[in-house]
Amino acid sequence: MSDKKPNPLVYEQKNAYTVLDKSETDKAYAFAEEYKGFINAAKTERESAIYAENAAKKAGFTPLDNNERLTPGSRVYRNFGGKLIMLAVIGKSGADSGFNIAAAHIDAPRLDLKQLPLYESEEVAYFKTHYYGGIKKFQWVTLPLAIHGYCVRADGSSVAFSIGENEDEPAFFISDLLPHLGKDQLKKTLAEAFTGESLNLIVGTSPSQDADAASKYKLRVLEILSEKYGITEEDFLSSEIEVVPAGRARDAGFDGSLIGAYGHDDRVCAYPALSALLSLSGTPDKTAVVILADKEEIGSEGVSGMQSRAFERFTAELLRKAGSRLDLDEAYERSFCLSTDVCNALDPSFMEVSEKINAAKLNHGIGILKFTGSGGKSSSSDASAETVAKVRALFRENGVLWQMGELGKVDQGGGGTVAKYMANRNIQTIDAGVPVLSMHAPWELIAKLDLYMTYKAILALFSGQ
Ligand code: MN
Ligand code: MN
Repeated sequence: MSDKKPNPLVYEQKNAYTVLDKSETDKAYAFAEEYKGFINAAKTERESAIYAENAAKKAGFTPLDNNERLTPGSRVYRNFGGKLIMLAVIGKSGADSGFNIAAAHIDAPRLDLKQLPLYESEEVAYFKTHYYGGIKKFQWVTLPLAIHGYCVRADGSSVAFSIGENEDEPAFFISDLLPHLGKDQLKKTLAEAFTGESLNLIVGTSPSQDADAASKYKLRVLEILSEKYGITEEDFLSSEIEVVPAGRARDAGFDGSLIGAYGHDDRVCAYPALSALLSLSGTPDKTAVVILADKEEIGSEGVSGMQSRAFERFTAELLRKAGSRLDLDEAYERSFCLSTDVCNALDPSFMEVSEKINAAKLNHGIGILKFTGSGGKSSSSDASAETVAKVRALFRENGVLWQMGELGKVDQGGGGTVAKYMANRNIQTIDAGVPVLSMHAPWELIAKLDLYMTYKAILALFSGQ
């Protein structure tokens, strides 16, 4: 903090610790505590949707289906099948000025169980897995894993369970070769050495007491599953059972300025979006909408992804029940969307893939990405200059520290978000989110100040025109 006047001709992007006063950093650290509560409770998309629904109910939101008419200030939500949830606060103009939207996703890379996962080999029982989203497979061996399951039986009854998160519960592991016998393995590329079919979870090593059983170690696991959760091997066929890193979010660094957790991408944006909407005190000018979507990590496909017409379904019902004169297309044209998804933080240990002038940095605030995609911006919606100017003004007026980012060096790789699916609906959309280190790893890192600035950014959007 110096008294030197900045030259207005020069754009200088500052570290938030050099700009914010103590009361603001205190608020950021307090918000981080709330966030840790969320991310510890919401390790799958289903758990995230349940958390959001419960928090919304507590904040006075009611199911959209239960509301015949909506008026300014109405607070409603709809949970679409447990994995996609949309929430709204109706604005002063009903829905006649369109929507201010924050769209985040609540799925994260992980290992799913195969539909017939259980087998035994050499007196060890295993679950076969099929990974979900973009993972580096070698990162998922020899660390404690937890199982979060949801099973629907043929009679329509269901059971949700989780095991491995608490210290007094067993966790699960995938083995790796000891270095003493790793001579050939070490010569392979990472992709060759760790294959999808090798990611098998050890689930038991004690046999069933059934003397006639052919596969006693497998049967023992089935006996436990039947006893604990009332499921049979056939029930696996209609289950979604997810294997995720076990354990709770941790502060990181001597100063505790960072948070290490599983699934920051994208729950670290989903939480501030939810929190901003729930904390709206008055009635916003424009109807505010939060979408917490599933399936972003595999292309936003399916009924619970951002390409689903569930979004049209929800917004059309808002318009109709609010008595709007607009049709859906007219409403979208007047709408604005922050695609609140994480971006990569500049990693000083991997400068070779980074172009540091245009890279988002830890503690420099919410990261805006004008475009994502790969190669020549392929597959990106590339927000317009007007859209960027709008967020510049919005953030400046509301004390939001932000930075422009880009996903590494040109031609180094690429990625996408839900932005293009919103933009394809003729909604002005831009990517904005928390910079992440070790994205898609079992434990990802984010900075507390960036998380808080993302909350402030979304709150500014909802409070604005
Ligand atoms: Mn993401
Ligand atoms: Mn991702």
